[in-house]
Amino acid sequence: MKYIVSDANLIDVERGCAVEKHRDIVVDGGKIVRICAHGEADKDGCKVIDASGKFVVPGLINAHVHLFGTGMPSKILGGGSAQQKVLAFVKTKLGAKVLSALVASSAKKQLLSGVTTVRTVGDFYGSDIALKRKTDAGKGGAKGLRMLVSGMAITVPGGHGAGTFARTSDTVDGLVALVDETVAEGADLVKICVTGGVMDAKKRGEPGEVKMTFEQVKAVCDRAHALGKKVAAHVQSTEGVRIAALGGVDTIEHGAAPDEESVKAIKERGGAFVVTYSPALPFARLSPDVTKMNEMCKFNSEIVLQGMSAGAKAAFVAGIDVGLGTDASCPFCTQYNTWREVVYVDKMLGVGAAKALEIATIGNARVLGIDAVTGSVAEGKSADLLILKGDPLEDLRALRDIDGMMAQGRYIKRPRPSKMKNIEAQLDELAEEL
Ligand SMILES: [Zn+2]
Repeated sequence: MKYIVSDANLIDVERGCAVEKHRDIVVDGGKIVRICAHGEADKDGCKVIDASGKFVVPGLINAHVHLFGTGMPSKILGGGSAQQKVLAFVKTKLGAKVLSALVASSAKKQLLSGVTTVRTVGDFYGSDIALKRKTDAGKGGAKGLRMLVSGMAITVPGGHGAGTFARTSDTVDGLVALVDETVAEGADLVKICVTGGVMDAKKRGEPGEVKMTFEQVKAVCDRAHALGKKVAAHVQSTEGVRIAALGGVDTIEHGAAPDEESVKAIKERGGAFVVTYSPALPFARLSPDVTKMNEMCKFNSEIVLQGMSAGAKAAFVAGIDVGLGTDASCPFCTQYNTWREVVYVDKMLGVGAAKALEIATIGNARVLGIDAVTGSVAEGKSADLLILKGDPLEDLRALRDIDGMMAQGRYIKRPRPSKMKNIEAQLDELAEEL
């Protein structure tokens, strides 16, 4: 199918979000084949999508996603017997079906909220890998969504996600074998958990307790790189950043204030920091009555929040890429709120709407190594774009009101993911306070 997105205000994220007025964007075979002045393109055989007065931006890239959950706050994620029951269930035949339906529904919500690329960083039993195969074959509700998938994460016993979305070994050889296994299953990248996290922290003031050693991290990274895969690492403390950076990790997920040597190592590798304000902000700023988390979690979340800002700011200074992701599936991290993360990045890092939009599109594409394919609306790139009623540079909330979109050339008119009203109300309230 050939399309012309006609007479758009095109936002060029590769040139500081300059707005080019009255542009026609010609799409053929899933690619942007021509961008020209309105009226110049040959309309013969094209379906014309009127975008006059509207704004066209690249499809959003969500660089940190889990597909196994909805974002509804739940005690299950905190461990205990309820969690054990759920884990036992997903291993049954029926459970596997429920899980695959859940991840499919999540991916569809991501797509319908304007996300044209997701990177999963820890999902159960290869459910993300299976969904990617199906989606790439042009099947299912998330058709058009580009997926980079990690499968199960890797950590040591007692590490973040151990026993849930991560597999473990306590030896270097065992961890390397897990890398081989994960890649053989079809993973595009390797996710490791170097430190603990907010929900499994034991101590007030220490959310990012170091779990993996330098030797373990280095061995995992060396093997992944030998297999041509990047390594994304869950890290929430300065010492964790150091172990990850010197060990060879490509992206620091969440992050913390880095020391000088860490910054140097990440810069030399062409690595990046990927911030995820979407879980940190509600945990830190909403009342524990609402979040159903204890006071220690709230306190530790504020530490994580400050740490991720410190990491991103250090990256800006050093000229290291910064990416963003929503950590969807965490409590309050729905599968349809990537636009909120863009707002959070603007507010928390004080970078302005243009820079935040750039991070969510071409910036994330660079972080993921797919900027030759997507991340901007440009000739030769994949047709991944959003048509917005409002100007996102004036108000990023325009990203919430998508009039039409394309994902690898699949046109979706008025995409509308189903939403959870109470969570939306709480997040809207939180946004007011920023
Ligand atoms: Zn995560």
